[in-house]
Amino acid sequence: ELILAIETSCDETSAAVIKGGTDIVSNIVSSQIESHKRFGGVVPEVASRHHVEQITLIVEQAMKEAQVSFSDLDAVAVTEGPGLVGALLIGVNAAKAIAFARGLPLIGVHHIAGHIYANQLVRPLTYPLLALVVSGGHTELVYMEKEGSFTIIGQTRDDAVGEAYDKVARTLGLPYPGGPHIDRLAAAGEATISFPRAWLESDSYDFSFSGLKSAVINTLHNYRQRGEEVKVEDVAASFQQSVIDVLVGKTKRAVEELEVKQLLLAGGVAANKGLRAALEKEFSSSVELIIPPLELCTDNAAMIGAAASIKWKQQRFSGYELNGNPGLSLM
Ligand code: ATP
Ligand code: MG
Ligand code: FE
Repeated sequence: ELILAIETSCDETSAAVIKGGTDIVSNIVSSQIESHKRFGGVVPEVASRHHVEQITLIVEQAMKEAQVSFSDLDAVAVTEGPGLVGALLIGVNAAKAIAFARGLPLIGVHHIAGHIYANQLVRPLTYPLLALVVSGGHTELVYMEKEGSFTIIGQTRDDAVGEAYDKVARTLGLPYPGGPHIDRLAAAGEATISFPRAWLESDSYDFSFSGLKSAVINTLHNYRQRGEEVKVEDVAASFQQSVIDVLVGKTKRAVEELEVKQLLLAGGVAANKGLRAALEKEFSSSVELIIPPLELCTDNAAMIGAAASIKWKQQRFSGYELNGNPGLSLM
Protein backbone atom coordinates (compact mmCIF):
# COMPACT_ATOMS: atom_id res chain seq x y z
CA GLU A 1 0.00 0.00 0.00
CA LEU A 2 0.99 3.61 -0.55
CA ILE A 3 0.67 6.07 2.35
CA LEU A 4 1.19 9.84 2.39
CA ALA A 5 2.46 10.78 5.87
CA ILE A 6 2.72 14.18 7.54
CA GLU A 7 4.73 15.21 10.63
CA THR A 8 4.48 18.67 12.26
CA SER A 9 4.73 17.92 16.00
CA CYS A 10 7.66 20.21 16.77
CA ASP A 11 10.01 22.20 14.57
CA GLU A 12 10.25 20.07 11.44
CA THR A 13 7.62 20.28 8.69
CA SER A 14 7.79 16.95 6.90
CA ALA A 15 5.86 14.88 4.35
CA ALA A 16 6.70 11.45 2.96
CA VAL A 17 5.31 8.76 0.70
CA ILE A 18 5.87 5.24 2.05
CA LYS A 19 5.26 1.95 0.24
CA GLY A 20 4.32 -1.21 2.12
CA GLY A 21 5.51 0.28 5.43
CA THR A 22 9.12 -0.35 4.49
CA ASP A 23 10.12 1.61 1.37
CA ILE A 24 10.72 5.36 1.33
CA VAL A 25 9.41 6.69 -1.98
CA SER A 26 9.99 10.28 -0.86
CA ASN A 27 10.75 12.01 2.46
CA ILE A 28 10.92 15.82 2.56
CA VAL A 29 12.01 17.50 5.81
CA SER A 30 12.02 21.26 6.28
CA SER A 31 13.75 22.23 9.51
CA GLN A 32 13.05 25.50 11.31
CA ILE A 33 16.17 25.35 13.48
CA GLU A 34 17.53 28.62 12.08
CA SER A 35 14.38 30.50 13.14
CA HIS A 36 14.47 29.17 16.71
CA LYS A 37 18.22 29.40 17.30
CA ARG A 38 18.25 33.00 18.48
CA PHE A 39 15.68 32.13 21.17
CA GLY A 40 17.76 29.18 22.40
CA GLY A 41 14.86 26.77 21.96
CA VAL A 42 11.65 26.10 20.03
CA VAL A 43 9.11 28.95 20.29
CA PRO A 44 5.64 27.40 19.82
CA GLU A 45 4.09 30.42 18.04
CA VAL A 46 7.01 30.66 15.63
CA ALA A 47 6.80 26.91 14.95
CA SER A 48 3.07 27.04 14.13
CA ARG A 49 3.53 29.96 11.76
CA HIS A 50 6.32 28.17 9.86
CA HIS A 51 4.23 24.99 9.58
CA VAL A 52 1.33 26.98 8.08
CA GLU A 53 3.66 28.55 5.52
CA GLN A 54 5.40 25.29 4.63
CA ILE A 55 2.85 22.48 4.82
CA THR A 56 1.28 22.77 1.34
CA LEU A 57 4.65 23.16 -0.36
CA ILE A 58 6.19 20.23 1.51
CA VAL A 59 3.26 17.90 0.72
CA GLU A 60 3.39 18.93 -2.95
CA GLN A 61 7.12 18.33 -3.02
CA ALA A 62 6.79 14.88 -1.41
CA MET A 63 4.11 13.90 -3.96
CA LYS A 64 6.13 15.28 -6.85
CA GLU A 65 9.35 13.54 -5.84
CA ALA A 66 7.45 10.27 -5.34
CA GLN A 67 5.95 10.71 -8.82
CA VAL A 68 2.54 9.61 -7.61
CA SER A 69 -0.85 11.29 -7.70
CA PHE A 70 -3.42 11.48 -4.91
CA SER A 71 -5.48 8.76 -6.62
CA ASP A 72 -2.56 6.33 -6.19
CA LEU A 73 -2.67 6.69 -2.39
CA ASP A 74 -4.33 4.22 -0.01
CA ALA A 75 -4.33 6.43 3.10
CA VAL A 76 -3.17 9.70 4.63
CA ALA A 77 -1.32 9.48 7.96
CA VAL A 78 -0.40 12.23 10.40
CA THR A 79 1.22 12.67 13.81
CA GLU A 80 -1.66 13.37 16.21
CA GLY A 81 0.54 13.74 19.33
CA PRO A 82 2.41 14.26 21.53
CA GLY A 83 3.98 17.60 20.63
CA LEU A 84 3.14 21.30 20.50
CA VAL A 85 -0.63 21.62 20.10
CA GLY A 86 -0.49 24.51 17.61
CA ALA A 87 2.11 22.69 15.54
CA LEU A 88 0.22 19.36 15.58
CA LEU A 89 -2.98 21.07 14.45
CA ILE A 90 -1.42 22.25 11.19
CA GLY A 91 -0.48 18.71 10.16
CA VAL A 92 -3.73 17.19 11.40
CA ASN A 93 -5.86 19.70 9.51
CA ALA A 94 -3.82 19.29 6.32
CA ALA A 95 -4.19 15.50 6.54
CA LYS A 96 -7.93 15.76 7.22
CA ALA A 97 -8.41 18.10 4.25
CA ILE A 98 -6.58 15.73 1.89
CA ALA A 99 -8.42 12.66 3.26
CA PHE A 100 -11.79 14.38 2.89
CA ALA A 101 -11.13 15.80 -0.57
CA ARG A 102 -9.78 12.51 -1.95
CA GLY A 103 -11.99 10.12 0.00
CA LEU A 104 -8.97 8.46 1.63
CA PRO A 105 -8.79 6.73 5.03
CA LEU A 106 -7.15 8.87 7.73
CA ILE A 107 -4.61 7.42 10.19
CA GLY A 108 -3.53 9.22 13.38
CA VAL A 109 -0.04 8.18 14.53
CA HIS A 110 1.72 8.53 17.89
CA HIS A 111 5.00 10.43 17.37
CA ILE A 112 7.03 7.94 19.45
CA ALA A 113 5.49 4.96 17.59
CA GLY A 114 6.90 6.76 14.55
CA HIS A 115 10.38 7.07 16.04
CA ILE A 116 10.31 3.33 16.86
CA TYR A 117 8.99 2.28 13.44
CA ALA A 118 11.77 4.27 11.73
CA ASN A 119 13.64 0.99 12.29
CA GLN A 120 11.23 -0.84 9.98
CA LEU A 121 12.59 1.32 7.15
CA VAL A 122 15.99 -0.24 7.86
CA ARG A 123 15.13 -3.94 8.26
CA PRO A 124 12.06 -6.15 8.95
CA LEU A 125 11.14 -6.20 12.65
CA THR A 126 10.98 -9.43 14.68
CA TYR A 127 8.92 -9.58 17.87
CA PRO A 128 9.11 -9.51 20.82
CA LEU A 129 11.48 -6.57 20.69
CA LEU A 130 12.79 -3.81 22.91
CA ALA A 131 13.16 -0.18 21.82
CA LEU A 132 15.36 2.35 23.57
CA VAL A 133 13.68 5.69 22.85
CA VAL A 134 15.87 8.74 23.42
CA SER A 135 14.61 12.08 22.15
CA GLY A 136 14.02 15.73 23.01
CA GLY A 137 10.92 14.96 25.10
CA HIS A 138 11.14 11.22 25.86
CA THR A 139 13.49 8.67 27.39
CA GLU A 140 11.82 5.27 27.51
CA LEU A 141 12.37 1.56 27.28
CA VAL A 142 9.44 0.25 25.24
CA TYR A 143 8.70 -3.49 25.07
CA MET A 144 6.74 -4.68 22.05
CA GLU A 145 5.29 -8.16 22.29
CA LYS A 146 3.82 -7.91 18.81
CA GLU A 147 3.20 -5.45 16.00
CA GLY A 148 1.50 -2.26 17.17
CA SER A 149 1.57 -3.17 20.89
CA PHE A 150 3.61 -0.92 23.17
CA THR A 151 4.48 -1.39 26.87
CA ILE A 152 6.59 1.27 28.52
CA ILE A 153 8.69 -0.69 31.04
CA GLY A 154 10.80 2.30 32.10
CA GLN A 155 10.86 6.05 31.54
CA THR A 156 12.48 9.22 32.77
CA ARG A 157 11.20 10.61 36.05
CA ASP A 158 12.35 14.13 35.19
CA ASP A 159 14.32 15.42 32.17
CA ALA A 160 14.44 13.63 28.85
CA VAL A 161 17.96 12.86 27.73
CA GLY A 162 17.79 15.28 24.76
CA GLU A 163 16.58 17.98 27.12
CA ALA A 164 19.60 17.37 29.38
CA TYR A 165 21.91 17.59 26.35
CA ASP A 166 20.34 20.88 25.26
CA LYS A 167 20.48 22.43 28.75
CA VAL A 168 24.10 21.42 29.36
CA ALA A 169 24.98 22.75 25.90
CA ARG A 170 23.35 26.07 26.69
CA THR A 171 25.50 26.39 29.84
CA LEU A 172 28.55 25.71 27.69
CA GLY A 173 27.46 28.53 25.36
CA LEU A 174 26.72 26.19 22.44
CA PRO A 175 23.95 26.93 19.92
CA TYR A 176 20.54 25.22 19.94
CA PRO A 177 20.02 22.31 19.57
CA GLY A 178 23.07 21.44 21.62
CA GLY A 179 23.02 17.63 21.34
CA PRO A 180 25.12 17.36 18.17
CA HIS A 181 27.63 19.94 19.48
CA ILE A 182 28.18 18.05 22.75
CA ASP A 183 28.53 14.84 20.75
CA ARG A 184 31.25 16.45 18.58
CA LEU A 185 33.12 17.94 21.58
CA ALA A 186 32.86 14.67 23.54
CA ALA A 187 34.69 12.83 20.77
CA ALA A 188 37.65 15.19 21.24
CA GLY A 189 37.72 14.99 25.07
CA GLU A 190 38.43 12.58 27.92
CA ALA A 191 35.84 11.58 30.53
CA THR A 192 38.03 12.85 33.39
CA ILE A 193 35.32 14.40 35.57
CA SER A 194 33.19 12.04 37.61
CA PHE A 195 29.52 12.98 37.27
CA PRO A 196 26.70 11.04 38.97
CA ARG A 197 24.87 8.11 37.41
CA ALA A 198 21.25 7.74 38.50
CA TRP A 199 20.63 3.98 38.72
CA LEU A 200 17.54 4.43 40.97
CA GLU A 201 16.09 1.23 42.55
CA SER A 202 17.97 -1.88 41.47
CA ASP A 203 14.90 -3.41 39.80
CA SER A 204 13.77 -0.22 38.06
CA TYR A 205 14.07 0.50 34.34
CA ASP A 206 13.32 4.19 34.99
CA PHE A 207 15.76 7.00 34.25
CA SER A 208 16.62 10.37 35.80
CA PHE A 209 18.82 13.00 34.19
CA SER A 210 18.07 16.19 36.11
CA GLY A 211 20.66 15.41 38.84
CA LEU A 212 23.34 14.85 36.22
CA LYS A 213 22.34 18.02 34.39
CA SER A 214 22.58 20.06 37.64
CA ALA A 215 25.91 18.45 38.54
CA VAL A 216 27.40 19.49 35.20
CA ILE A 217 26.04 23.03 35.46
CA ASN A 218 27.27 23.38 39.09
CA THR A 219 30.71 22.05 38.20
CA LEU A 220 31.02 24.61 35.41
CA HIS A 221 29.94 27.44 37.75
CA ASN A 222 32.47 26.32 40.37
CA TYR A 223 35.32 26.27 37.86
CA ARG A 224 34.35 29.72 36.60
CA GLN A 225 34.05 31.13 40.11
CA ARG A 226 37.52 29.89 41.00
CA GLY A 227 38.76 31.34 37.73
CA GLU A 228 40.05 27.90 36.74
CA GLU A 229 40.24 26.70 33.17
CA VAL A 230 38.26 23.63 32.24
CA LYS A 231 38.40 21.85 28.92
CA VAL A 232 34.87 21.93 27.49
CA GLU A 233 35.70 18.78 25.54
CA ASP A 234 36.33 16.96 28.83
CA VAL A 235 33.09 18.25 30.36
CA ALA A 236 31.20 17.07 27.27
CA ALA A 237 32.94 13.67 27.29
CA SER A 238 32.30 13.18 31.02
CA PHE A 239 28.62 14.14 30.74
CA GLN A 240 28.13 11.92 27.70
CA GLN A 241 29.85 8.96 29.38
CA SER A 242 27.50 9.22 32.35
CA VAL A 243 24.45 9.30 30.05
CA ILE A 244 25.69 6.35 27.99
CA ASP A 245 26.59 4.20 31.02
CA VAL A 246 23.06 4.43 32.38
CA LEU A 247 21.27 4.04 29.02
CA VAL A 248 23.37 1.02 28.04
CA GLY A 249 23.31 -0.48 31.56
CA LYS A 250 19.52 -0.40 31.92
CA THR A 251 18.98 -1.60 28.35
CA LYS A 252 21.37 -4.50 28.95
CA ARG A 253 19.45 -5.63 32.03
CA ALA A 254 16.14 -5.47 30.15
CA VAL A 255 17.58 -7.51 27.26
CA GLU A 256 18.76 -10.14 29.75
CA GLU A 257 15.57 -10.24 31.82
CA LEU A 258 12.99 -10.23 29.03
CA GLU A 259 12.53 -12.18 25.83
CA VAL A 260 14.03 -9.86 23.24
CA LYS A 261 14.64 -10.83 19.61
CA GLN A 262 15.67 -7.37 18.45
CA LEU A 263 16.90 -4.21 20.11
CA LEU A 264 15.96 -0.94 18.38
CA LEU A 265 17.33 2.54 18.96
CA ALA A 266 14.94 5.44 18.33
CA GLY A 267 14.54 9.23 18.67
CA GLY A 268 16.68 12.29 17.97
CA VAL A 269 19.42 11.35 20.47
CA ALA A 270 19.85 8.08 18.54
CA ALA A 271 21.96 10.26 16.23
CA ASN A 272 24.58 10.42 19.02
CA LYS A 273 27.82 8.83 17.82
CA GLY A 274 29.00 7.86 21.29
CA LEU A 275 25.72 6.11 22.13
CA ARG A 276 25.61 4.30 18.78
CA ALA A 277 29.17 3.02 19.26
CA ALA A 278 28.54 1.96 22.86
CA LEU A 279 25.41 -0.01 21.90
CA GLU A 280 27.17 -1.66 18.97
CA LYS A 281 29.99 -2.72 21.25
CA GLU A 282 27.74 -3.99 24.05
CA PHE A 283 25.24 -5.88 21.90
CA SER A 284 27.38 -7.11 19.00
CA SER A 285 26.93 -10.73 20.00
CA SER A 286 23.95 -10.94 22.39
CA VAL A 287 21.02 -9.53 20.39
CA GLU A 288 20.19 -8.23 16.91
CA LEU A 289 20.61 -4.46 17.10
CA ILE A 290 19.04 -1.99 14.66
CA ILE A 291 20.12 1.66 14.60
CA PRO A 292 18.48 3.93 12.00
CA PRO A 293 20.61 6.18 9.75
CA LEU A 294 20.94 9.74 11.10
CA GLU A 295 18.22 11.27 8.88
CA LEU A 296 15.65 8.79 10.24
CA CYS A 297 16.58 9.45 13.90
CA THR A 298 15.47 13.09 14.07
CA ASP A 299 11.88 14.06 13.25
CA ASN A 300 10.67 13.05 9.78
CA ALA A 301 7.43 11.90 8.13
CA ALA A 302 8.85 8.65 6.73
CA MET A 303 8.79 7.13 10.22
CA ILE A 304 5.15 8.21 10.62
CA GLY A 305 4.30 6.45 7.36
CA ALA A 306 6.04 3.27 8.55
CA ALA A 307 4.05 3.26 11.82
CA ALA A 308 0.83 4.07 9.93
CA SER A 309 1.27 1.00 7.75
CA ILE A 310 0.71 -1.24 10.82
CA LYS A 311 -2.57 0.55 11.58
CA TRP A 312 -3.53 0.31 7.90
CA LYS A 313 -3.06 -3.47 7.97
CA GLN A 314 -5.19 -3.65 11.13
CA GLN A 315 -7.76 -1.26 9.56
CA ARG A 316 -7.44 1.06 12.58
CA PHE A 317 -8.50 4.34 10.97
CA SER A 318 -9.33 7.70 12.49
CA GLY A 319 -12.49 9.75 11.97
CA TYR A 320 -12.71 13.40 10.99
CA GLU A 321 -12.93 14.26 14.69
CA LEU A 322 -9.16 13.54 14.81
CA ASN A 323 -7.45 16.34 16.71
CA GLY A 324 -3.95 17.32 17.78
CA ASN A 325 -3.39 15.78 21.23
CA PRO A 326 -0.27 17.10 23.00
CA GLY A 327 -0.61 14.55 25.82
CA LEU A 328 -1.40 11.48 23.68
CA SER A 329 -0.37 8.24 25.41
CA LEU A 330 1.56 5.48 23.62
CA MET A 331 -0.11 2.53 25.32
P1 ATP B 1 10.01 13.98 21.02
O1 ATP B 1 10.41 13.08 19.91
O2 ATP B 1 10.30 13.41 22.37
O3 ATP B 1 8.63 14.51 20.89
P2 ATP B 1 11.51 15.99 19.65
O4 ATP B 1 10.75 15.48 18.49
O5 ATP B 1 11.62 17.45 19.89
O6 ATP B 1 10.98 15.30 20.97
P3 ATP B 1 13.69 14.77 18.37
O7 ATP B 1 13.57 15.62 17.18
O8 ATP B 1 13.31 13.37 18.28
O9 ATP B 1 12.96 15.42 19.62
O10 ATP B 1 15.17 14.91 18.89
C1 ATP B 1 15.72 16.17 19.10
C2 ATP B 1 16.72 16.02 20.24
O11 ATP B 1 17.80 15.20 19.81
C3 ATP B 1 17.33 17.35 20.69
O12 ATP B 1 17.32 17.38 22.10
C4 ATP B 1 18.77 17.27 20.16
O13 ATP B 1 19.71 17.97 20.91
C5 ATP B 1 19.00 15.78 20.24
N1 ATP B 1 20.10 15.33 19.37
C6 ATP B 1 20.19 15.39 18.02
N2 ATP B 1 21.37 14.92 17.58
C7 ATP B 1 22.08 14.55 18.70
C8 ATP B 1 23.37 13.99 18.94
N3 ATP B 1 24.20 13.72 17.94
N4 ATP B 1 23.73 13.75 20.22
C9 ATP B 1 22.89 14.02 21.24
N5 ATP B 1 21.68 14.54 21.08
C10 ATP B 1 21.26 14.80 19.83
MG1 MG C 1 13.17 18.81 16.07
FE1 FE D 1 10.76 13.45 17.86
